[in-house]
Amino acid sequence: MLWSKYYIPTLKEDPAEAEIISHKLLLRAGMIRKLTSGIYIYLPLGWKALQKISDIIRQEMDRFGAIEISMPAVQPGDLWKESGRWEVYGKELLRFKDRHGRDYCFGPTHEEVITDLVRGEIKSYRQLPVNLYQIQTKFRDEIRPRFGLMRGREFIMKDAYSFDRDDQGANKSYEDMYAAYMSIFKRLGLKFRAVEADSGPIGGSFSHEFMVLADTGEDTIAVCTKCDFAANLEKAEVKYAEKEGSPAECPALEKVSTPGKHSVEEVADFLGVPKEKIVKTLLYEADGRPVAVLVRGDRELNEVKLKNLLGALDLRLASFDQVQKWSNAPVGFAGPVGLNVEAIYADQELMFDTDYVVGANEADAHYLHFHLQRDAQIEGFFDLRQITESDPCPRCGGPIELTKGIEVGHIFKLGTKYSEALKATFLDENGKEKPMIMGCYGIGVSRVLAACIEQNHDENGIIFPPPIAPYDALLLALNPKDSTVKEKANEIYEALSAQGIDCLFDDRDERPGVKFKDADLIGLPLQIIVGAKGVKKGVVEIKIRHSGERIEVGLDEIIPRFKEVQKKVWAHYGV
Ligand code: ATP
Ligand code: MG
Repeated sequence: MLWSKYYIPTLKEDPAEAEIISHKLLLRAGMIRKLTSGIYIYLPLGWKALQKISDIIRQEMDRFGAIEISMPAVQPGDLWKESGRWEVYGKELLRFKDRHGRDYCFGPTHEEVITDLVRGEIKSYRQLPVNLYQIQTKFRDEIRPRFGLMRGREFIMKDAYSFDRDDQGANKSYEDMYAAYMSIFKRLGLKFRAVEADSGPIGGSFSHEFMVLADTGEDTIAVCTKCDFAANLEKAEVKYAEKEGSPAECPALEKVSTPGKHSVEEVADFLGVPKEKIVKTLLYEADGRPVAVLVRGDRELNEVKLKNLLGALDLRLASFDQVQKWSNAPVGFAGPVGLNVEAIYADQELMFDTDYVVGANEADAHYLHFHLQRDAQIEGFFDLRQITESDPCPRCGGPIELTKGIEVGHIFKLGTKYSEALKATFLDENGKEKPMIMGCYGIGVSRVLAACIEQNHDENGIIFPPPIAPYDALLLALNPKDSTVKEKANEIYEALSAQGIDCLFDDRDERPGVKFKDADLIGLPLQIIVGAKGVKKGVVEIKIRHSGERIEVGLDEIIPRFKEVQKKVWAHYGV
């Protein structure tokens, strides 16, 4: 492809709207343009990179027995009412009506549509298992679309759905998809990790997320440095080390004045007690019910664990007014003694000690010497807080490290949630009617491109891992007005193309400085630099984008040397 005849609108300046590096670089490298909030146009280079990603996904999905189809983006509201999600999905579901006043939505995911398809065709155990997938545009009206392709409203997803006769079969389908995902992300040349995940609002019994490791990731993952345990922070269970001996003696409750001391830090400083001897009382509204959670002052509550414990669809922190109503005090003084909520849940860790400080449900007052079992009525002790680096691995007791990741894939074992709701049943060997057991498997194709750049860039631009790079190499003719340079560059371009090497040829009449800058910005793994001086000497340079290394090669040995260097670069990415 000739750059002069192509469409690569690179930008010199950082676009003001872009907050993260992948967004900045995708715009600057002329790979995407914004149409409106969270909705992007993919330009040729960006689209080609997305095709590279999609091709690898397709090959591995096919290899593991999934079959490609394509489903509509617009879905009838009736199907969502049948599954029960029309009411509960929330505002991310873009709903609209057609001219007849019938409800529709733009698909954020396709469980309903696929289950409707399959229930119409599959009637017998002989037709199972089946796993169908598509690569298609999704729409989620995200509350804060941001970071370019990372969290768009319209984005490209690969979604697959498996249907099995029994649990054993469903587990096998899940394992196959796990293996397919491992192989997809490895082949893409990305550093990633599969982690245990929460199944979230889609529901189901178990799930894994695939995280591209990058400091800028929105997700935190807990990884054991000794065994293979890795989990999303939302999911990571905490293993409690039980304390030896009985809890300390605990004098009677004593109210003390703590004027204007709201936060744990302020109270701890004021009373001269360590933060771990303070109990935080957090108030929530769970599906309309007022509840409270107790965690140690130096810990963070894990809202996902709380939501799962309560089986709540909607969980939100109490408003100022609710806090005032339920605790009789402004924010910062709520406590478990005499609190006006329906239920109090305590984090397990609080079980092993007594003599805590808690809010007194009165402005500017706290209690000393709080004994949980003695002074409050709680529903019980549960694993409710977030794991930290000082906790042991819940599997092997080894040290835990927290790192950042970007969720690019998610696999769920759904069970019969949708097949029961939508009556997708089959007749088994004995003629008995049973619901199919389902799994669903997503990859954020457009997010993979953003995540790839978050992980692979430097101050000059993108550094594409070769499997994702839109072209294998960039050929630069430094001064195309010089007829020998032009001639040689053309010859090299022809020779590379004849070898099946997909090459972008910067034949523009631009200064070398501009070309070098653009070359690094768009980040193809290899550059072949043809200059007047070199050509006179009978040489060109091959530059490796990720290392910056430049290798001089003779004009008559370009193809074999290029292939040799290319092989080394692929090996660097483990592919
Ligand atoms: P997140 O937690 O990031 O909002 P999710 O868990 O809601 O994502 P899934 O329903 O698991 O997303 O969707 C499958 C995949 O689609 C995700 O793993 C992610 O890679 C991608 N994805 C989800 N939402 C978006 C979005 N708004 N923009 C781009 N990709 C997305
Ligand atoms: Mg997810």
